[in-house]
Amino acid sequence: MKIKAVCPRDCYGGCSLILEVEEGRIIKVYGDKENRATEGLICRKGLEYIDRNYGRNRIKRH
Ligand code: SF4
Repeated sequence: MKIKAVCPRDCYGGCSLILEVEEGRIIKVYGDKENRATEGLICRKGLEYIDRNYGRNRIKRH
């Protein structure tokens, strides 16, 4: 399934993202080409959301 989203960092008004999700898990993240401002481009931080979300060193509680 593909889900449209917006990067929460909101650097330049929020880049549009497409998240590909399988069995409740994000498997791919890329820019949405339908966004006329960003035309599918996202930065490295946006591309690394999978690692950020599922990374082994992610802090899950405090
Ligand atoms: S994808 Fe990158 S440039 Fe775009 S809003 Fe997110 S952090 Fe900022």
